[in-house]
Amino acid sequence: MIYNFLTGDLIIKSLIVLLALFNFNLSAHKLHMYPDAPLKIITIGHPTLTMIAGEIPYEEISSEETQELIDKMIVTMKKAGGVGLAAPQVNVSKRLFVMKPSWFKKAEAIINPVVEYIDGAGTKSSTEGCLSIPGKQFKVERYKELNLSYYTREGEFMSEHATGFRAIVAQHEYDHLNGILIANFFFPNFVPMPISKDVPLM
Ligand SMILES: [Zn+2]
Repeated sequence: MIYNFLTGDLIIKSLIVLLALFNFNLSAHKLHMYPDAPLKIITIGHPTLTMIAGEIPYEEISSEETQELIDKMIVTMKKAGGVGLAAPQVNVSKRLFVMKPSWFKKAEAIINPVVEYIDGAGTKSSTEGCLSIPGKQFKVERYKELNLSYYTREGEFMSEHATGFRAIVAQHEYDHLNGILIANFFFPNFVPMPISKDVPLM
């Protein structure tokens, strides 16, 4: 049956208008711009966040484009108050993330990472926020330890055993490269509360 908007009844007309407004509203919230941040952060509902990002060819790591993207991602992460930011979150579907899980270390770029989780070390509960899901926090289960291999922004290959908060941030960002948001897998554990100050944003 085709609904005739001109002759149809008022309640259905109102519903259609409301739905249209709601839709408009949703699309209007897919970008989040922080003051002075060079890049916009896309939020849940944007298709790029659900895609498996592509590897960066080795010869492109040193390119001006990649280096500039890394610089801008680091500034955007800091301006947004985050400890990690993955390229898909700024609408670039590449296997790259930046992170600064420690006050004492410089922000670093992790390129084409491979993560190997260490089952034997067990898991722990982690309360996390995501810059792409503004204002929400989630309780998720994370591996305590993992092996992380990647290229640095200088093109150096690194392989490390990550533990503690570094391992948590790496897992959160690595998930972004595979189209996984904390809301996707762990919906039953969703904590519908405004984000608190001590919950890290990634
Ligand atoms: Zn995130």
